[in-house]
Parts: sequence; C-alpha cells; structure tokens
Amino acid sequence: MNPSAPHPHRRRLTRAEVRRRRRSRAIRRVAGLTVMLCVAAGGVTFLLTRRAAVPSASAASAISMPAQSIADPAVSSAENTAAPANALGLTADEARAMLADPLMVLVNHTCKMPDDYTFDTKECGSATAVNKTLQTAACDAFLEMQKAAAADGVTVWMQSGYRSVKYQTSLYERKTKYYLDKGYDNATAREKAAAVVNPPGYSEHNCGLAADLNSPEHTGLDRGFEKTAAFRWLCEHAGDYGFILRYPKDAEDKTEIIYEPWHWRYVGVENAAKINASGLCFEDYIETLQSIAAEG
Ligand SMILES: [Zn+2]
Repeated sequence: MNPSAPHPHRRRLTRAEVRRRRRSRAIRRVAGLTVMLCVAAGGVTFLLTRRAAVPSASAASAISMPAQSIADPAVSSAENTAAPANALGLTADEARAMLADPLMVLVNHTCKMPDDYTFDTKECGSATAVNKTLQTAACDAFLEMQKAAAADGVTVWMQSGYRSVKYQTSLYERKTKYYLDKGYDNATAREKAAAVVNPPGYSEHNCGLAADLNSPEHTGLDRGFEKTAAFRWLCEHAGDYGFILRYPKDAEDKTEIIYEPWHWRYVGVENAAKINASGLCFEDYIETLQSIAAEG
C-alpha cells in the first residue's frame, strides 16, 4: 500500500448507502422498542397479577398506593437528582462551555474548520509517518498513551496527523485532476474527488486533532487494523488519554464516513469520558450539545 495516500479507499458513503444504513438503523430501533415494550408489558402484567394475589388484609394499603409508583420510575428518579433531565445530564451553560472548547471543534465534509482556528504543533509521528505533527496538547497526550501501550507490550504508531490546508489543497486538486483526466466535467470531477479526499478545511486532519494510527502488525490505514492488538488496546484505553474513535462502525449513517478503525480524534480527557459515556458519535454529541445550549 502506498503510504503517501492517507485514505486510499473511498471514504464517503454514497447517498444510497446512507439511506440504506438509516433504514436498517430505524428497523433496529423499532425492533429494540418492540422488545422493550414487550418486557415492560410483561413486567406490568406480572406486578398486577402479584398485587391481585396480595391477601385482602393489605387491600386498604394497596388501594392507597398511587398507581404511578409502578408505572413510571423515570419521573421519580428525575425528581430525586440535581442533574438536568436531558440526554447528557448537562446544563445549558455546561453545554455552551463544551461547544466553546477549541478541542471540541467539529470538522467534517459539511462543516468547515473556522478560518481563525489556530494552534501550535509538535512532532510525534513514526519514522514512516507522512504528517508527523499534532496540536501540542494532542501530541503530548499521544506520546503518553504510546508509552502506556508500550508498557503493556503494545506498539502504537502515529502515521498521519496534522495536514495543513495547503497540503489538503494539493491532495484534493491532485484527485480532482485524476477525474478530469478520466473525462469527467469539472463539477463531477470535484464531487468524485471529495468522496475520497476532503476539500481544504473540511478534513479533521486540518485541525491537528486527528491521528491516523497504525502498528508494526498492520501498517496500512485500512480495516485490517481492527484485528490488531494495538486497536484492541486503543479501544480499551484511548479514552483515558483523551482520544475517541471518530468513525465507529455503527455510526456510518451519521458520520457519512465508512468505518475507520485507524482514525482517532483528540478531544481531551474529560470530553472523551463524557462522549464515550454517552455512546454517541461526535456528530450526534455536538448536535445534542447544541440543542441543550439552545434551551437555556
Ligand atoms: Zn484520518
């Protein structure tokens, strides 16, 4: 594999693929809900039968027992806790603070990196790395993580980190030219190129917080990395160093990027813990933060 091609395969899902994934996720949701409803109905039936079987001596107390005490445990738990009753348990101010954190910047094919987003970089790439630097905080965190992995007998390399917008431009223009040479018109060539290489400013690698990781077991940046001890180690420990898996398998319909086990994103330790606990992908997490921030 050509190591100078950071993403050799088509990354972006086609519209049809996105539709298919959304449909199958919707089906999974309905199936899950049905199971939940069946379990809930079974539980209520069980409780009702039990209550019916209660000897008549306690009938008076059974009557005075409010009906909702068995019906909706969410109501009482929401009353008992101080945390706001939204999906993430954050106040509007907390959500706004997270959104304002430069480490939480969202960069994807529809969301361009802000032009005034600036940072310092530091080198942490492997000997064969194409782009050897990351934002300083991300770099330090990576080096610490790499050391911890080594202590567990696992080698993790940083193969591709920060790419300048200028470098991204050359990648994108080269890919566009490839399609122009094949005879496509300009608009189609650009669209096809964008499915493989993000246009300048639209790649998470431009913000210095994305790291493509590999290991001596598997140096290619592809699905094969999933089978390595390095990947298994990262899944277990990367969050402790502030890194999240950016394009998970079950979030393809939301990220619109094909599952990338090698692409990790630094967000800081606290943010990573919150995001991982939510079970949401980064796009969904940011969207939820935005709706919480808009409420207060
Ligand atoms: Zn990447």
